[in-house]
Amino acid sequence: MIRISEVRLGDTVRALVDEVLMSGHLVQGPMVEKFERRFATICEAEHAIAVSSGTTALVAALQALELGPGDEVITSAFTFAATVNAILESGATAHLVDIRMDDFGIDVDAVEAAITPRTRAIVPVHLYGCPCAIEYIRSLAAAHDLAVVEDAAHAHGARVGDATVGSDGTAIFSFYGTKNVTTGEGGLVVTDDSALAQRLRLLRNQGMKARYEYEIPGHNYRMTDLHAAVGIGQLEHLGEWNDRRRLNARRLGDGLGELDGIVLPGEPPGRFHVYHQFTIRVTSDSPMDRGHLAKALAARGIETGIYYPHPIQHYECYREHARVAATPTPVADQAAREVLSLPVHPWLSESDLDSLVSAVRDMLTR
Ligand SMILES: *Cc1c(COP(=O)(O)O)cnc(C)c1O
Repeated sequence: MIRISEVRLGDTVRALVDEVLMSGHLVQGPMVEKFERRFATICEAEHAIAVSSGTTALVAALQALELGPGDEVITSAFTFAATVNAILESGATAHLVDIRMDDFGIDVDAVEAAITPRTRAIVPVHLYGCPCAIEYIRSLAAAHDLAVVEDAAHAHGARVGDATVGSDGTAIFSFYGTKNVTTGEGGLVVTDDSALAQRLRLLRNQGMKARYEYEIPGHNYRMTDLHAAVGIGQLEHLGEWNDRRRLNARRLGDGLGELDGIVLPGEPPGRFHVYHQFTIRVTSDSPMDRGHLAKALAARGIETGIYYPHPIQHYECYREHARVAATPTPVADQAAREVLSLPVHPWLSESDLDSLVSAVRDMLTR
């Protein structure tokens, strides 16, 4: 079976986990601090605040910006529910807008059209590991005095020009079990804003500056040192593993390049895609529709994924939610019908890549 994701943790993980177990310092201790420092270095970020998940990272970032009821946050309709759930958890209203087809990122014109006097923040998503057009989003945000919190849950080590995602402004990462770096469960906020970083540190630990010195009502968003130990060993390999993902993406692209009926993922100029997913679109020109292609590949031992089958506002629980607003999203609707992610992870062998290419070719050239 060629799986859509495969987890390898690096050689040092046992020793690091053992170190935590022997130390007895299991939560918010030295291993968490080490993880934060190393991740900040990778992102070229000033501050890194580790938390319990990518979702709580986004909730905490929005809370630290003091968003709440009455405030509106604009985000992509084509994302994992966590992005929207975190906005709702903060008390704000989520305004979902359309995407662009070239990078699956939020459409800047759609964002601009959705801005109201109550809009306070934009949450762009670097979907599949492809950085979105963040420079345009930042200038739009600056013109309207809005905060930007990047959802970089798929984009560890991605770059725009020379800038690593997370090196400017505020971004959140996830270390869930399938992400490019995993701690099992885990998340982190990076920011260049010292005041925001300080509020985040308070918020994650019940608002305490020192023990029982409460500064603000907070929460328990802490990461454990066991989780941090699982993540640390991967960080030194991240660059190499991302390069392998990129190489695999190139191999798949070369092998599938001229087939009718599919569109390969692009890499817009100046952006460094880290291929959390290699996502093709199976269009109406394809001799086999997406569902049949996925089934036929599964029959040949190739796992695929549909990320995501519907834009968020099409689910009843969001459509009827009082704090979810959406403008029509024809591009996201089309993407949801067409996307299919193929395995691209660093542990694919040459023969896995060959089987993948020939399987897709066989199905689409009949
Ligand atoms: C995984 C993910 C998150 C949330 O991360 P968790 O660690 O699972 O809470 C947020 N946004 C996107 C786009 C994700 O894929």
